[in-house]
Amino acid sequence: MSKPAPSARAHVPFVSVDNMMSLVHHIGIERFLVDLAGEIEADFRRWPEFDKSPRVAAHSKVGVIELMPVSDGRLYAFKYVNGHPKNVKEGLQTVTAFGVLSDVDSGYPLLLSEMTILTALRTAATSAMVARHLAPAGADTMALIGNGAQSEFQALAFRALVGVRRLRLYDIDRAASEKTMRNLAGLGFELCACRTPEEAIEGAEIITTCTADKQYATILTDNMVGAGVHINAIGGDCPGKTELHPDILKRARVFVEYTPQTRIEGEIQQMAADFPVVEFWRVLTGEAPGRRDAREITLFDGVGFAVEDFSALRFVHERLAGTAFFEPLDMIADPDDPRDLFGMLQRAVPEA
Ligand code: NAD
Repeated sequence: MSKPAPSARAHVPFVSVDNMMSLVHHIGIERFLVDLAGEIEADFRRWPEFDKSPRVAAHSKVGVIELMPVSDGRLYAFKYVNGHPKNVKEGLQTVTAFGVLSDVDSGYPLLLSEMTILTALRTAATSAMVARHLAPAGADTMALIGNGAQSEFQALAFRALVGVRRLRLYDIDRAASEKTMRNLAGLGFELCACRTPEEAIEGAEIITTCTADKQYATILTDNMVGAGVHINAIGGDCPGKTELHPDILKRARVFVEYTPQTRIEGEIQQMAADFPVVEFWRVLTGEAPGRRDAREITLFDGVGFAVEDFSALRFVHERLAGTAFFEPLDMIADPDDPRDLFGMLQRAVPEA
């Protein structure tokens, strides 16, 4: 008896790393970032429609593995992601991820995708989308502290969405800054590799911190942060893993994605449980003001929320149509008679 051929709807499109890279280049990296930021902003504007929860985290001494689920009642998405700062020393990445988008009506998966590259893109798109509403008008200089895997994506998103032209780079590992300098050379930025974080923030209207260290780190102290800057702090995203001195938070207006998750994982884990924050979606809907004056310090305490991954998977799913940047994956059993799963298995007994 020969094996039954899988039906077409049992074939789930799978976007490998290779195909994700092809899709990104097909669209163009900056176009991808701008369009994705538009999708994330659109989903943030309809925030109350989402069934949200803090991500489910499994911590170890050296890192974390997380599941990030969310649904808008029509589509469901989850991402599997790790965070292991020690990995780089072992030749492995700090962050890797994959995710699934599903149809709520049938419960069938619509897409399985790599999300290591997609996470870097969605994180950068989110940061820049937020900064477009909070950064001081005309800001064109950004300090980029932490020059690892996320850094170039942040740089390109801030150029495309905010107009950043000058980058002041700092990393405790000079080789990381040199890598970022090499990757961004010739892309139209004015680049400066700095020897200290103090030097990096000179003249910067925007400060992005994207460092990885599993501790309460102090990348920025209070005296380093002048009036009127926008801080995009994305590296502190886990209990016991922060980047900013708490005194900075006291002087800033703090914007978050989803408060219950950020209180556990963000910079505000250092503050009292009632420390005031603004959920950023309220700025988009006009329920809360964004930047109020030129001297205000605005701080995006970005930990990465499931809605951003939902938007990213939805965006990739839509953009796959008419392309060959996926492989059909035989992932759903889908027997002809839905109750005859066993019969389907039996029909696949290898011929003697
Ligand atoms: P990475 O390991 O590739 O790079 C991190 C860099 O930070 C390294 O080059 C390291 O040398 C540098 N660094 C560590 N301590 C430093 C310090 N005190 N001062 C300056 N530089 C320092 O990691 P990555 O993939 O670029 O991620 C960076 C951080 O962002 C991680 O903590 C990761 O968990 C987080 N992240 C957050 C989001 C989000 O949505 N908020 C998304 C992705 C990654």
